[in-house]
Amino acid sequence: MLIKEKIEQIKKGEFSAEENISFFLDNINKKNKKINAFLYVNENAIEDAKRIDEKIKQNKSVGRLAGLAIAVKANINVKGMPISCASKTLENYRGTFDAEVVEKIKNEDGIIIGITNCDEFACGSCGIHSAFGVTQNPSAPGRIPGGSSSGSGAAVAADMCDIALGSDTGGSVRNPACHCGIVGIKPSYGRVSRYGLIDMAMSLDQIGPLCKDVYGAALMLEIIAGYSDYDAVAYQKPVIKYTEFKKPEKLVIGVSKQFSRLCSDKRINKLIKECTEKLKERLGAIIKEIELEYIDLAIQTYYPIVYVEFFSGTRKFDGRRYGKVIEESCGEEVLRRILGGQEISKAEFAGKYYRKALEIRELIKKDFRNAFEKVDIIIAPACPSLPHKIEEKITPEEEYAYDAFTVTANLSEICSGVMKAGEIDNIPVGLQIMAESFREDLLFNVLKAWEKISG
Ligand code: GLN
Repeated sequence: MLIKEKIEQIKKGEFSAEENISFFLDNINKKNKKINAFLYVNENAIEDAKRIDEKIKQNKSVGRLAGLAIAVKANINVKGMPISCASKTLENYRGTFDAEVVEKIKNEDGIIIGITNCDEFACGSCGIHSAFGVTQNPSAPGRIPGGSSSGSGAAVAADMCDIALGSDTGGSVRNPACHCGIVGIKPSYGRVSRYGLIDMAMSLDQIGPLCKDVYGAALMLEIIAGYSDYDAVAYQKPVIKYTEFKKPEKLVIGVSKQFSRLCSDKRINKLIKECTEKLKERLGAIIKEIELEYIDLAIQTYYPIVYVEFFSGTRKFDGRRYGKVIEESCGEEVLRRILGGQEISKAEFAGKYYRKALEIRELIKKDFRNAFEKVDIIIAPACPSLPHKIEEKITPEEEYAYDAFTVTANLSEICSGVMKAGEIDNIPVGLQIMAESFREDLLFNVLKAWEKISG
C-alpha cells in the first residue's frame, strides 16, 4: 500500500496501526535472520500502535505519521534502544535521549520499529563493515545492499518498515537506495538537525529518509527538517510543503560529460540517458550540457576531509565514558580512517592534505554554483557500477570508487535524491537528481514526475 493511502486508512480506522505494525513485525521475524537489516526490534511497538488506535477510536487528533513503522539507523539516538553504530565499541551503549529527528517522529505518532544495521560508524559503501554481520540485498539476492545505511535500505526494500532513516555523509542514504531500488534523500546541509546523530564527518553529515514511494520520503523530510536550537549549522529557512507536488514547468536539466566519464559500467550511463530523455519529453524540459571541472577530484577531496573529521569525532570513545577504547575494539575500515586522520592531522602534514582538500572543496562548490545558474537540476548516475556479490572481496580503493557520484552533493552542500531508474541484469539501478541547496521542493517535484513516468 502507498504511504499516503495507508495514513488515510489508519486515520479513518479502516486499517489499524496495530495491523500495520504486526505485519512488519511478522516480516522481520520471517526475514531478518537472512537479511540482517535490524540489529534491534522494538518489543513495545505493538503497545505503541494500540495507543494510537485508541486515540483514533476516541476521535482524538493524531500526528502525520500515525501508526507508521519507522526504522532508525544505528547511529541516531533513540532513548533506551541500543545505538551501537554497528560497532563493538558501543555494543553496550543505549541511547540516553532522542535525537531531534526521533523526537519529531514520535511527536507525529510514528512508531520506532527498530534499529538498523549499517557499516561500522557509517564508514563504508557496501554494508559489509558491520561488527554484527553483513546485510543482504533483498532486491538483488547475494549482492551487497549498498551502505553505509545498509539495514535501512534493506528494511524498506524487504517490507520490514514503512520509512527508514539513514545518514548521508558521502552517499550513505543514496547508495543503498540505488542498489535496493528505492527512494533515498540527502537533504541540503543544514536542512535537518544533526542533534543526536553520532557524527561521521560533521561538515558533511545529514540525516535523510528512505522509502518505497516519493510521498513517504517527502513527508518524512517535511517532518524532520527545520531550524534547530541544538545544531549550530541548521539554517533558519522555512520548510516548504514537500508533499504538495507540482509538475515542474520550464525545467532545465543539466547533464555532464565529466560525470558519465566516471561511470565504469557504460550500461548505467545508457540507462540514465534514457531516463533523462523520457523526463525531457514528458515534462517538455530542456537538456543542457554543463561543465563540472573538478568533480573527478571529488573522491580525493572527500576522503581526507572525512578521515580528519572522523578522527576528531572519535576522540570521545577513549574508554572513559562509553566503555571501550575505539582503536582496541573497532574493525579494519574504522581503524584505517582513525590512523589516517591522525597522520593527516599531525602538524607536519597540516596544509598539505586537509587544507588542500578544503581548497578543492571550494572549487567543487563553485562548479555547482555556476552550473545551477544555467540549469534547475542535474541528473547523474548514483553509483558507477552494479552492487558486487557479497563473497567477492574488493579493495578499499574500489569501495571508495562507489562514491564518485554521491560525495559531490555533500561536498557542495546541495540536496540530492536517488530513485530507481530501471534494472540491468535484474539488478536495480539508481537515478540521481540534484538540486540547489534548499530546493528540496523542486527535487521532490522531479522525483514525483519520474515516479509517474516510470510507473
Ligand atoms: N561511503 C562513504 C564513506 O565511506 C559515505 C559514507 C556515508 O555517507 N556515511 O565515507
